Amino acid sequence: MAFMDDLKKFGKNVAQKSSDMVETTKINMSISQEKEKINKIFHEMGAAVYEQYKAGNDVGLGELCMQVAEMDAKIAELQAKIMEIKNTAKCPGCGAEVSVETVFCANCGTKLK
Ligand SMILES: [Zn+2]
Repeated sequence: MAFMDDLKKFGKNVAQKSSDMVETTKINMSISQEKEKINKIFHEMGAAVYEQYKAGNDVGLGELCMQVAEMDAKIAELQAKIMEIKNTAKCPGCGAEVSVETVFCANCGTKLK
């Protein structure tokens, strides 16, 4: 009956391995969830550091902040390009996008011309 015993053992091993896999997958999902939470906090930390940098405080991460500032400038440049294409401008009063033909901002009433 050695063959039957081996077969039973084999079946048991397969069942064990599959339940191990389910357990491992569950644990890996928990790890991913925790990592996501960490990334969210890292994002908040980074944004807080950048705000301090913009306010003129030395936060010790000047090089990284400078890189973000360069990207911010690039984004502003690209947004200006879009506004040029769409024939719009930013209201100096509230920052809303308004047509260059508009005399008063529809959002805050600032005189534009
Ligand atoms: Zn406005």
